[in-house]
Amino acid sequence: VNIAAIDLFYLAMPEISSAADGTQDTLLVRIRDESGLEGWGECDASPLVTLAAYVCPRSHGNIHGLREILLGERLETPADILRLHARVLRLAADLEQVHHALSGADIALWDLLGKARGEPVWRLLGELECDRGVKSHPKLPYASVLFEATPEATRQRAAELRAAGFRAIKFGWGPMGCHGAEFDLELVREARSGLGPEPRLLVDAGMAWKEDHRTAFERAVAFASCDVGWLEEPLFPDAVAAYARLKAFSPPLAIAAGEGCNRYRFAADLIENGGIDVVQIDAGRIGGITTAFAVRRLAEERGITYVNHTFKSQLSLTAALQVFADAEPFHLLEYPAGGSALSRALARTDLEPGPDGLVRATEAPGLGVEVALETVRQYLRPVRVEVGGKLLFESGETGV
Ligand SMILES: [Mg+2]
Repeated sequence: VNIAAIDLFYLAMPEISSAADGTQDTLLVRIRDESGLEGWGECDASPLVTLAAYVCPRSHGNIHGLREILLGERLETPADILRLHARVLRLAADLEQVHHALSGADIALWDLLGKARGEPVWRLLGELECDRGVKSHPKLPYASVLFEATPEATRQRAAELRAAGFRAIKFGWGPMGCHGAEFDLELVREARSGLGPEPRLLVDAGMAWKEDHRTAFERAVAFASCDVGWLEEPLFPDAVAAYARLKAFSPPLAIAAGEGCNRYRFAADLIENGGIDVVQIDAGRIGGITTAFAVRRLAEERGITYVNHTFKSQLSLTAALQVFADAEPFHLLEYPAGGSALSRALARTDLEPGPDGLVRATEAPGLGVEVALETVRQYLRPVRVEVGGKLLFESGETGV
């Protein structure tokens, strides 16, 4: 079959606040084949910039819009997706936004191929590895929340989350790093106190110490006394040399980073040269399932941990899970528990935690996701791109 249509949907909440909440708007990519089957993907980057990467007309022989590059191409095997992935990165000029934008199409292509084959994406990915007879393994979802303004309020929040049944919780950002060493430790201590000894506690420092690896090391030593599973982004996402210096001090807990990676090379740099212990990849940002899977394979080769970064709808969550569903040692799953009304209503999956609290990749074909078209209609922002009187794009041109 051939790729017959690529449709783009810019969705947004009526008001976009300044909160660090990436679920307030989104760009959906729908790819259809000649038989009418369709696949869906969601991009993590700024929607209209991403949309432009799809619809821009040819600039010269090496720079084309993504839609033009993909339309009409053959899609029959996982190898076809790898071929198309490489083709986009070559013909769309290898600019950073292309990796972001390609994420949505790549995810949609895997969804579409999975539906055409009647197989879940995680099993198709096994085909790339000479079909190792993969099976999926359950994941422990961790709830991701912000530190409260005070240690006391953080303890209360932790106690609520424990009462709600979460077995792993990540606290992050908020006042971490703003009021000195003793306050930082109090935040983590009270989080642990509210959780009790059982649940796994993860700490996201939200880049608090910039490139200061010494302070990051001191905090790592302090936090280790509270049985913290990992310290996430104590430094800037691209401070690779500072991560290497931090790791050279041998901190007593794992160092996690990688959600900022916007291409494979960035993740490889953090792993190979930054020496991180846990790489956190957003498939909706780094180039899709294909690129995220390549990073997962590198993590396995280097003996470090792979985990998803996801803060979008269930469409993004199921895409993220496919990448490492069959990897038994990679047990944790970032599980978005909040988000905007748009994000919560956008897609349905069977990824609710089971009675044992674990999440399982399903046998449903493709991504196993159903996009709620009524939600797409409700939040659709009309877009019209016209250049020199020529219409390049109009939302609604394909209907929902
Ligand atoms: Mg983070």
